[in-house]
Amino acid sequence: MPVALLPPTTNSGGAWSGQTPLTEAPRYIRGRGNSRWHRVRSAVIYPAGHVRAADVTIYHYWCGPSGGSSGKAGPLWLVDDLPPGEPVCGTCVGRALGAGQDDTPAGLPPLLFSPRWQSPPTVCPGSNKQDLMVALNQRITVGQCLVCGAIERVHALGRGYNAYGYGLIKHAPGEDLANPCPFHAWSQLVERKGQAVCRCGWPGNAS
Ligand SMILES: [Zn+2]
Ligand SMILES: [Zn+2]
Ligand SMILES: [Zn+2]
Repeated sequence: MPVALLPPTTNSGGAWSGQTPLTEAPRYIRGRGNSRWHRVRSAVIYPAGHVRAADVTIYHYWCGPSGGSSGKAGPLWLVDDLPPGEPVCGTCVGRALGAGQDDTPAGLPPLLFSPRWQSPPTVCPGSNKQDLMVALNQRITVGQCLVCGAIERVHALGRGYNAYGYGLIKHAPGEDLANPCPFHAWSQLVERKGQAVCRCGWPGNAS
């Protein structure tokens, strides 16, 4: 059985260049140059284009390195079940288990982990952002959040001489929270054409 992958979340601010995340993959991976099997944390497909003749899938291992479906390192092998007796990268297995990618195996004590999956923020990122709201009345006392659709009170940002505009009061995300960018979750939202979208240019998805 394949395992669910984590989103390929990153702190880097590069522009989106057509890649899409893979949501699942076989449990074990090995490149031709690898001395052991590894486990997949996340994976991204880059579509064929003027640089590459065919789609390229990059698999990120839990232990750090990554392997590509084409390139100098040769082919990659991906399997759900290990060939008997083959060694597996301990760092990969420990991190995959620790992050809850698998159920805790029988015989181990319960493993605690903080979720590393994209869980919705407790405070809506549209709070206190003039760009991420639309005013619903002339006096700008009520507005709608572009990130989550909530209708909230508007207040001034900053105080006195340091006031710098207005924004929705701090609020929990409403029903219509925008889909997270697979690369930056909800951390880099900006307004484009009246919608809250990720700064990197990820086009979102229809679901
Ligand atoms: Zn590894
Ligand atoms: Zn909101
Ligand atoms: Zn993004």
